[in-house]
Amino acid sequence: MGDVPEYETSSESESEEAITKRRKKIGKKWQMEKMFENKASAVAAVQKEHVWSFTYKNVDTLGNISEIFRCNKVKKRGEQCAAGVYLHYPSITSEVHLYRSQLAHICNVIVTRVKSKMSNEVKKEIKSLFNFDSKIKPKKILDILMKKQITLPSKTEFNNYLSSLRKIKYGSNVMSLGEFENFCLQNSKVPDDVDAAFVVSY
Ligand SMILES: [Zn+2]
Repeated sequence: MGDVPEYETSSESESEEAITKRRKKIGKKWQMEKMFENKASAVAAVQKEHVWSFTYKNVDTLGNISEIFRCNKVKKRGEQCAAGVYLHYPSITSEVHLYRSQLAHICNVIVTRVKSKMSNEVKKEIKSLFNFDSKIKPKKILDILMKKQITLPSKTEFNNYLSSLRKIKYGSNVMSLGEFENFCLQNSKVPDDVDAAFVVSY
């Protein structure tokens, strides 16, 4: 009770310039929504929504503090969601005010756009390799993509897309046992993060 979570301060991982840039980019209109008696209850209310990540803190000349939270459905370094909240701590009182962006969430749109943008370029390449040799090994495809300096797809995307190509061609995505073993070996080195690119060892 009363414990304030440890925040990641934005200056540690992101340059001030980058933050300023993003702040300017999103012209949010804020509206005061609720007043809390203390910091703990205000922070708890923000956390309860499970969508906000602390981004930066602002202190004005009068000592009023604002803690700005961003929508964490999108990546920190990419395009930001229009929704957002901030907690305002007036220096003259222990009350905390919750402000909310008047703009709705656009994170779904951003996420979809980012995903399809990444895979369109890659899809085209994988498809042409597959059409040329439908027995091509996944590793071979990735090797070629790397050599062509094409951004590698995420593990999930790559697997899904390749199996969809197989499905179209063979009517199912069944692999031979040998293929499956190779596939498992190759993928054992792939990070768990679905958004991380493949790392292919030579
Ligand atoms: Zn959002």
